Amino acid sequence: MSAEPTDAVPAGDAPAADVAATEVPTFDDLGLRPELVRALSALGYEEPTPIQAESIPPLLAGRDLLGQAATGTGKTAAFALPLLERLHPGTDADAPVALVLVPTRELAMQVSEAIHRHGRELGARVLPIFGGQPIGRQLGALRRGVDVVVATPGRAIDHINRGTLPLDSVEVVVLDEADEMLDMGFAEDIEAILTETPPTRQTVLFSATMPARINAIAKRHLTDPVRIEIARPTSAAGDSPKVRQTAYLIPRSHKPAALGRILDVEAPTAAIVFCRTRLEVDELTETLNGRGYRAEALHGGMDQQQRDRVMGRLRSATADLLVATDVAARGLDIDQLTHVVNYDVPSAPEAYVHRIGRVGRAGREGVAITLAEPRQHRLLKNIERVTKQHISIDKVPSVADLRTRRMELTRATLEESILEGGLDQFRVVVETLADEYDVMEVALAAVKLAHESSGAAADEEEIPDVAHRPDRDDRGPKGRGSKKDRPERGARPPRRPSEGMTRLYVAAGRSFGIRPGDLVGAIAGETDLSGRDIGAIEIADRFSLVEVPEDHADQVIAAMKRTTLKGKKVLFRRERFTPE
Ligand code: AMP
Repeated sequence: MSAEPTDAVPAGDAPAADVAATEVPTFDDLGLRPELVRALSALGYEEPTPIQAESIPPLLAGRDLLGQAATGTGKTAAFALPLLERLHPGTDADAPVALVLVPTRELAMQVSEAIHRHGRELGARVLPIFGGQPIGRQLGALRRGVDVVVATPGRAIDHINRGTLPLDSVEVVVLDEADEMLDMGFAEDIEAILTETPPTRQTVLFSATMPARINAIAKRHLTDPVRIEIARPTSAAGDSPKVRQTAYLIPRSHKPAALGRILDVEAPTAAIVFCRTRLEVDELTETLNGRGYRAEALHGGMDQQQRDRVMGRLRSATADLLVATDVAARGLDIDQLTHVVNYDVPSAPEAYVHRIGRVGRAGREGVAITLAEPRQHRLLKNIERVTKQHISIDKVPSVADLRTRRMELTRATLEESILEGGLDQFRVVVETLADEYDVMEVALAAVKLAHESSGAAADEEEIPDVAHRPDRDDRGPKGRGSKKDRPERGARPPRRPSEGMTRLYVAAGRSFGIRPGDLVGAIAGETDLSGRDIGAIEIADRFSLVEVPEDHADQVIAAMKRTTLKGKKVLFRRERFTPE
């Protein structure tokens, strides 16, 4: 951020000493109205993320803002909360007060859901409008009256041309993921929309990258904007502890299972699992306990006594996992900690550095594990850049890896038992069985029982191996349209689709103007899959390939029969895949 982060400590510093000195503002401090603070508390947010702490005060003061922030930093709430402050509950004004422009329909839905959640108590009426949805439904909602419109530029222009989107009362316009909108060819539409809104409006622009074209738009349409960007602290890498840093790319729905499996293989002595919200802490603790771990929750909603009890259990090894928010874990110093797990990519590199500084002390090797959704790859890159340390991306252990690991454990347990001795009392059992069966057979049955009684027989589902998709968040400075990022013309993805996924052939490619966002948008818009569920996408000249979860393939094919891509019916079918 442009200001020095207040709670960044060089990795390896004991955080205990800086607890009192930490001055992260609360949502109350930021000057938000009580209804909004209550909504955030209900969502389990404990404190603002850096982008929120930096953006909300100037936005509340009415300033224009130019912010560089990627997905996962909490940028949606950073603009949504100040925008909701502008609503006038109780009045019968029907024209929108805020207009948010986003590149894809998927994002339109996500952002409007977030604004709706934050503004529920205020009775905020939020309407997403995007192409592909019947316009009649949108017209009806606009006629009934809305406070906030979240639109893709193309559909916003349609409505403006029909005279169905009144913009005279708009007080704030947000351009979210502006670089992406430009890459998708929306520059002219954005210009046209902005000229339709009152010149007195507040303008907010968020972009993951800041190419010259974004600066040009900002120059034309923003007035004396506050600039918020992610600074590059130089000292963070300093005397870093020895920490093995690994990340896994996992679709959200598979995270609990993936975490369980990673923990099984890593077998930490004691670990902290960091979550973003209290709700996530509670849910994950329950899930982990259900899977046989001894996990304890720690969050800001607990009093000192409860916290002490939890810490006591961890120290006495009655618990081996602590599931915590950053706020609650601040100041904890746990000696035996071997692993830090980020259940989500932290919203700022400083938080990452702070978290992993808890392991790898005193020359011991620590392990930092980060579970990222495929679209958060960019945040990981940013952390690597800031910390100047490599985070290797690993594959989630497969069911076979897990079985091997569990077998090893059973073997080790049996060996321990042999070395321990005291087996004579069982000799009679083996001897009587040996009259009838081969001794090897008897041993195998005993191993099976030992293996099963360790809980190792649990049936596991394969977790899809999600390839990182360069089209989403790891865009080069030129954005996702940049040639560098594109696959080779006609390039083929690896021959086999990821586990659990089916590859669909789409009879339209680059020469038809298809971009990955079009496929994600169409599939997410027409089926109950979200963008996160969609796997690797390859765009060749004349066709495209897209991976979708196996159990949704038929639904996607059927849904795509009913809709159009770029105004035309396009065939979707299973790829006719010939194994080597
Ligand atoms: P965004 O960068 O807006 O896509 O947000 C990323 C994720 O962070 C979303 O799942 C939000 O629900 C979550 N989030 C946003 N702000 C906070 C906060 N202050 N504390 C915890 N989680 C947050």
